[in-house]
Amino acid sequence: MTDVAGASKSTTGTLYVVATPIGNLDDMSARALKVLADVALIAAEDTRHSIRLMQHFGINTPLAACHEHNERDEGGRFLTRLLAGDDIALVSDAGTPLISDPGYHLVRQARAAGVKVVPVPGACALIAALSAAGLPSDRFIFEGFLPAKTAGRRARLEQVKEEPRTLIFYEAPHRILECLDDMQAVFGADRPALLGRELTKAFETLKGLPLGELHAFVAADSNQQRGECVVLVGGWSAPEDEQAISTEAQRVLDLLLAELPLKRAAALAAEITGVRKNLLYQAALEKQKAD
Ligand code: SAM
Repeated sequence: MTDVAGASKSTTGTLYVVATPIGNLDDMSARALKVLADVALIAAEDTRHSIRLMQHFGINTPLAACHEHNERDEGGRFLTRLLAGDDIALVSDAGTPLISDPGYHLVRQARAAGVKVVPVPGACALIAALSAAGLPSDRFIFEGFLPAKTAGRRARLEQVKEEPRTLIFYEAPHRILECLDDMQAVFGADRPALLGRELTKAFETLKGLPLGELHAFVAADSNQQRGECVVLVGGWSAPEDEQAISTEAQRVLDLLLAELPLKRAAALAAEITGVRKNLLYQAALEKQKAD
């Protein structure tokens, strides 16, 4: 017996986590269509939304709601079906389920119950933006949505101010301007950034500018304050001529120096903090002399 993806089938069903388009319906993959047509049930974040997508592609599989308010409780119902041998596909309104979308509890419960969980990858706004941003993409962190109010947002931004990896945020259009304002205040106006707006859609924007200029660009055009947005911010790097290292980098270095030889501690601290190894090596030598 084989399941909908062609793999040999066990007696329990498989939970497929299926990505759907983030705007452009042509981004629906052939594999996603096959899985959605073949499973017994589609667990959807919003059935009214997903039914339109299914109708567009001529898929008649029954849908059931799996949103953040019922996910924990209703998860049991889906699990019963999976354990009885039915395959289920999980979809969200757009993009990859679980990425700032429901699905985590169901996937966790399914895995805990020994049910096979299979990803069917596709569109994801953060990955689409990163792939075209021209910002370092070898290491990045996804911070999801920031708090809605300025105080909370700035506090969260402060936590990642000296993060060397590229930062990725989702933001609602009615907050984009104040969000960029706070980013500028915390990270500085010169930090490279990119606004990915309405990705894959007719009025797609990918605007890469330093934060101060990006804020001015969005403020000057109300069209840029509409639609769906991803904001990318380049990671922190110590200015070349800066001799002092951050408190956090110093703390990491001190902890490692207590356990490791100087050279190894400096190298590891550089990897962890993103601060140049030479700078940390000098700081370690100075500390050794002073001790
Ligand atoms: N699961 C989705 C994914 O894989 O990207 C994200 C769902 S989250 C509820 C919705 C947020 O994702 C939007 O507020 C926006 O920040 C971002 N987003 C979704 N589609 C987008 C698009 N076409 N262009 C830019 N950002 C998008």
